[in-house]
Amino acid sequence: MYDVIIIGAGPGGIFSAYELTQRCPGLKIAVFDAGHSLERRRCPIDGVKVKSCIGCKPCSIMNGFGGAGAFSDGKYNITNDFGGTLYEYIGREKALKLMHYVDEINVRYGGGGTKMYSTSGTALKTLCMQNSLQLLEASVRHLGTDINYVVLQNIYEALKDKVSFFFDTRVQKLCRTERGYVASYEGGTAESRACIISVGRSGSKWMESICDQLQIKTKSNRVDIGVRVELPAAIFAHITDELYESKIVYRTKKFEDNVRTFCMNPRGIVVNENTNGIITVNGHSFEDEAKKTENTNFALLVSKHFSEPFKDSNGYGESIARLSNMLGGGVIVQRFGDLERGRRSTKKRIEESTVHPTLAATPGDLSLVLPKRVLDGIIEMIYALDRIAPGTANDDTLLYGVEVKFYNMEVELDENLETRHEGLFVIGDGSGVTHSLSHASASGVYVAQCIAKRLAAGVASHEG
Ligand SMILES: Cc1cc2nc3c(=O)[nH]c(=O)nc-3n(C[C@H](O)[C@H](O)[C@H](O)COP(=O)(O)OP(=O)(O)OC[C@H]3O[C@@H](n4cnc5c(N)ncnc54)[C@H](O)[C@@H]3O)c2cc1C
Repeated sequence: MYDVIIIGAGPGGIFSAYELTQRCPGLKIAVFDAGHSLERRRCPIDGVKVKSCIGCKPCSIMNGFGGAGAFSDGKYNITNDFGGTLYEYIGREKALKLMHYVDEINVRYGGGGTKMYSTSGTALKTLCMQNSLQLLEASVRHLGTDINYVVLQNIYEALKDKVSFFFDTRVQKLCRTERGYVASYEGGTAESRACIISVGRSGSKWMESICDQLQIKTKSNRVDIGVRVELPAAIFAHITDELYESKIVYRTKKFEDNVRTFCMNPRGIVVNENTNGIITVNGHSFEDEAKKTENTNFALLVSKHFSEPFKDSNGYGESIARLSNMLGGGVIVQRFGDLERGRRSTKKRIEESTVHPTLAATPGDLSLVLPKRVLDGIIEMIYALDRIAPGTANDDTLLYGVEVKFYNMEVELDENLETRHEGLFVIGDGSGVTHSLSHASASGVYVAQCIAKRLAAGVASHEG
């Protein structure tokens, strides 16, 4: 019998565990994760023997201690403008306060030497406005993939004697009992008074089944679709040197859709991402000077919001990603010049390009994959960005597709991020409330504080 079971050891789960150990030392806490412990997480893609995803189970990029964030670029954006809607549940001020608190912990556990950037009052903001672009407000701590890993290692060291970790242990079932919750996994069960579910994007299908089983309402109506752009770092240097990560939004003239930049990686690399067997594209960058490349990459995404009767926005995104996997065997890469001329990129054209791809993707034609409305929006945005970063619309700019940002269905939660079942909390990306490291982490701290308050008052759940 545990006091609290946490399902998922991504940023949400880790920060819940951390905060519970701080607030209630001696509490019996178990954390289950379907993936490996941090040191055992290794993606076999080495670019030589293994060039593309071979579908490991569990996937070391998405699963294990550190969650999907473990090998991420470690950009902790402190803002209510993007990265989730936590503020809708707990208020803007509280959400920002918790994100700053998470930042303090990251700094204390190894992120001390890293830089915090801020967009407010910058010349770029004005330049964007003058060119029909909007720069969103944020402070961003860039840990980098390497320091992010060190921070995770240090947090694990601090937690491992206070929390029971079960790695390579996928929770299969979760049942409500009179005393609380019972989680079943291969070879055993664990019972607790309270349960925090933090299963991220990779656990979205499982989350859906748990919501069905426990009759928790959900909704799903959004997906973001687009490409990852890769170009010489010099073209974006005046932006990335000052801000590192800038979220820029453009409203297209043709369809009045919003297109936005997402996940900017100065002098970084483009990588594959495997979500439930579908290969999409993403990006990384490193703090370590030796690992930096000559290219910068970022995503351009178009948000699609669906209305009734269509409910399966992720299914729509998956179908488009599957199409690119079907045509390219994985991710497709195309020169912007080829896209504009209505022809596919070939191996030869990519080799002759002045931009050297950092991901071995299949040369192809993205216009055969992306819906016209999305593609037109991306092309318009590339020309808009060309006005603030001349060279963006060069023929040799590389576009990788598809990048899909799946949004987990939103789980019906109250202001404590608690379901209709007392003592059952859902946090992080798996709840649909967050889509980022800092929001997911902050939601973990928040729920831990709720539980700690209840325990101090003598009850783990309302029923106790
Ligand atoms: C390549 C990449 C780069 C990224 N870069 C950034 C970035 O720079 N900045 C940013 O803000 N965000 C970034 N993100 C997104 C960020 O990583 C996520 O928003 C964040 O990790 C969400 O945290 P989470 O705890 O909610 O879920 P996750 O990190 O997804 O963790 C969920 C965990 O739950 C486990 N799990 C799932 N189902 C079960 C089950 N049934 N039983 C047991 N365990 C289960 C999984 O194994 C996983 O470890 C990136 C994502 C990727 C993939």
